[in-house]
Amino acid sequence: EPAHVTNFLRTIVEDDLKSGKHRTIVTRFPPEPNGYLHIGHAKSICLNFGLARDFGGRCHLRFDDTNPVKEETEYIESIKESVRWLGFEWGEHCYYASDYFEQLYQWAESLIIQGKAYVDDLTADEIRSYRGTLTEPGKESPSRSRTAEENLDLFRRMRAGEFPDGAKVLRARIDMASPNINLRDPVMYRILHAPHPHAGDKWCIYPMYDYAHGQSDAIEGITHSICTLEFEDHKPLYEWFLDNLPVPNRPRQYEFARLNLTYAVMSKRKLLQLVKDGDVTGWDDPRMPTIMGIRRRGFTPEAIRNFCDTIGVGRSDSWIDMSILEESVRQDLNERAPRVMAVLRPLRLVIENYPEGATEDLTIAYHPQRPDLGSRSVPFGRELFIERDDFMEVPPKGFKRLSPGEEIRLRGAYIVKCTGVERDGEGNVTTVRCTYDPETRSGLPGSERKVKGVIHWVSATHAVTAEVRLYDRLFTVPNPSGDDWKELLNPLSVEIVRDCRLEPSLALARPEDRFQFERQGYFCADRVDSQPGAPVFNRTVTLRDSWAK
Ligand code: ATP
Ligand code: MG
Ligand code: MG
Repeated sequence: EPAHVTNFLRTIVEDDLKSGKHRTIVTRFPPEPNGYLHIGHAKSICLNFGLARDFGGRCHLRFDDTNPVKEETEYIESIKESVRWLGFEWGEHCYYASDYFEQLYQWAESLIIQGKAYVDDLTADEIRSYRGTLTEPGKESPSRSRTAEENLDLFRRMRAGEFPDGAKVLRARIDMASPNINLRDPVMYRILHAPHPHAGDKWCIYPMYDYAHGQSDAIEGITHSICTLEFEDHKPLYEWFLDNLPVPNRPRQYEFARLNLTYAVMSKRKLLQLVKDGDVTGWDDPRMPTIMGIRRRGFTPEAIRNFCDTIGVGRSDSWIDMSILEESVRQDLNERAPRVMAVLRPLRLVIENYPEGATEDLTIAYHPQRPDLGSRSVPFGRELFIERDDFMEVPPKGFKRLSPGEEIRLRGAYIVKCTGVERDGEGNVTTVRCTYDPETRSGLPGSERKVKGVIHWVSATHAVTAEVRLYDRLFTVPNPSGDDWKELLNPLSVEIVRDCRLEPSLALARPEDRFQFERQGYFCADRVDSQPGAPVFNRTVTLRDSWAK
């Protein structure tokens, strides 16, 4: 992996350690378990866990589970799996904001006693309209003047379950005229009679993210609380709570630019909609920008970590082109994936002068630049399959493949010459007939002869039949936004090809084994559907960027 590119957050951490402000740093990655993690989260994971790793600190995995209605245990499990798969470990430091609910509740009472929080009867809509706008100050709620005693009593009754959902909220009493709307008496607690995936049915009031987050950071001794830029406006509120509560530590919030990726959507709300509407097969569909989807597509953790290093960490929002992500896996697999032969759309080829029933085992190296990857034996015989596209009866000028009267090299085997074709009743070519030149076997002196090109092949009698899924981008446009974003889905984002023929060594591919299929791209045995003897491969990425203009 490349040396870590420095960034402003690394500089801050370095300075804080040098100046003695902190003896050790503690960061956290704080997902809400309301969906699967996506590639944007990978950026945050690499940043937070990467800082802890490189500066000898630690990084907590914290579930920011303050909204039970949208949260599920399945998501908690998938998040852990995604972080681990990316190559990061939290050790004993897995936490849940919901484990702090009692402490958060006690601190809320202390704000009430200080006159810094009050129970409000306004509805959510009223609160919104009372809040004002950027140019207009907010309006105070009639409940704002309640006494501390009254508020304490009402808040306790909220907790006890006396009121229905939405009947009351607890608000911080800050400043309804603040130019920062986040400080206009933000809601701290709402009533939700709903069980919680981690806390069970203990609570019917739940803290808002803005109240829970900073206090959770403080409880855990987080030194650098790193979040995305949209929270910059919330920072004064983050600090207000810390200033007004007896917290054991003083974390500091820093913001960085979130990752936006072209040809993808990244909000969990939209990803969930794709799953629910059946536009994809699930959160881990290989077309999804989720970590589990990208994994199933065949990406390596190394490629994703390199991608995150490449794009860097800054403070201005920008779009990263999907081709940069694709190039990261292409580079990684170019160096390490064994190269094999797979015929996706088979056409029979018969070698007339090759003895009937004979078989030869050719030894072919897995990688031209990586002798350490070894070689495998590939059977060769009289009947082969080649790619339908590699033969044309009437070729255009410059066609570098096979056509009548022309010669071609079969990769790792012999030069063959096309002598004719066989057809079905409708005149379609069903078989290409050839002769071979035994002197031209790869490695023999005769193999030097120049021919138009090299094509891949498999032995018809030995090949294993497989399903191959050819994936492409999920959207047709770089920025699928707006109300009708779903209309921008790419109708050709997957093509399932069922009757592919692969060289026999691939029969026993294990789930997640990755290969270059020569001349086609990088492919990965599907971790869900691939079986020994009945492999299913996903195309991770083509060999070249077919989207480049
Ligand atoms: P979304 O808005 O996509 O649903 P979120 O921000 O609500 O995501 P969280 O579970 O709260 O999702 O995110 C956990 C952490 O990951 C947060 O610190 C958040 O800032 C960070 N994160 C989320 N999306 C991105 C992104 N696109 N780029 C970088 N970091 C991100
Ligand atoms: Mg969030
Ligand atoms: Mg969100």
